[in-house]
Amino acid sequence: MDKKKELGIYIHIPFCKRKCFYCDFISYTGYSENSEYIEAIKKEIETYKLNDYIVTSIYIGGGTPSYINSFYIESILKNIRERFNLSEDCEITIEVNPGTVTFEKLKTYKKCGINRLSIGLQTVDNELLKLIGRIHTYEEFINTYKMAKEIGFENMNIDLIIGIPNQTLEDIKKEIEKIINLRPSHISTYSLIVEEGTKLAEMLDEASNSKGMLNGKRFELPSEETERKMYWYIKNKLEELGYNHYEISNFAIKGKESRHNVNCWKQKEYIGLGVAAHSYLDKVRYSNIESVESYVKNIKNGKILLNRIIQETQNLKDMKKEYMLLGLRKIDGISIKDFKYKFSENPIFIFRNELNKLQNEELIEIDGDNIKLTNKGIDLANLVWQEFI
Ligand code: SF4
Repeated sequence: MDKKKELGIYIHIPFCKRKCFYCDFISYTGYSENSEYIEAIKKEIETYKLNDYIVTSIYIGGGTPSYINSFYIESILKNIRERFNLSEDCEITIEVNPGTVTFEKLKTYKKCGINRLSIGLQTVDNELLKLIGRIHTYEEFINTYKMAKEIGFENMNIDLIIGIPNQTLEDIKKEIEKIINLRPSHISTYSLIVEEGTKLAEMLDEASNSKGMLNGKRFELPSEETERKMYWYIKNKLEELGYNHYEISNFAIKGKESRHNVNCWKQKEYIGLGVAAHSYLDKVRYSNIESVESYVKNIKNGKILLNRIIQETQNLKDMKKEYMLLGLRKIDGISIKDFKYKFSENPIFIFRNELNKLQNEELIEIDGDNIKLTNKGIDLANLVWQEFI
């Protein structure tokens, strides 16, 4: 019998209690009832018949999946199990936000097979949390973390943001002490990006017109140099403690690397369910439309294809380039052997010019079987990725 191909499933729950000031994700507030959306997702599940695949990871993201009734999450997972083959060790993650999660919800997640939580903390400093519009406090996060432990969740990620206005390197040092005391299996640390059109961008604009003051208080982004120091402090500290820095923004205890992420970076196939969810299947990348109303209406009318927008149909050349781009997010980079196995060609020859240029600029190195970022390349990764776009 042929070996089944691996598949990931992403489910997008685009509802949030309130919009964080820095957020430009597809997420909506003001939806108190979302049963129609959940029914639409279930119908979307039925449009797939992928018997040749085995699902090795499911990721429920948002938005704030923990904002909606946990009964909905349970019912989506039930439908997925009925429709797809799940591997015995399938990693099933849900993103949860302190301030929206209860003991009962966590118990339901556990009961329906969710085995990994990703908790959006962002910072331990209540002042900074308020400053970026988060709805919760550090104490609420601790409460969520403890409840999850009590219920038996062992595999938990904590999301952090660095480079928040007014945040200092000293803040980060204290923050990391608090986080490592909890010994989570996974930590993600993202640099704050100020996206156009967000409330944060407006606030920073206003502050820059008032000498860095907003409503009579200082409101300034840390310098780029300080932000990089924060990153390297976290990297060194977590590595010292035995965390595996496996991707630019991600650290894990050995064996607890996020399968959902790793599969994406290895160019494995996945389908996305719900508004704005992306899919990669049979060399085609497509994404769902962003409007909840249109998504639900199209599905109700049996016009599922109206929801899907083809982004790209890849030829072999596109696939090889993308494999490089994705692989160079990982700290181990690209294995030349794996590349040869997948494409029957040597990446060193195909990308001779790009790799020579990046090596001369000291952004990448070729270390035995691996093509990977140097420390300078980690800081300037965008320049590396650009070569393969
Ligand atoms: S919780 Fe996440 S998705 Fe929702 S508004 Fe905040 S950053 Fe955006």
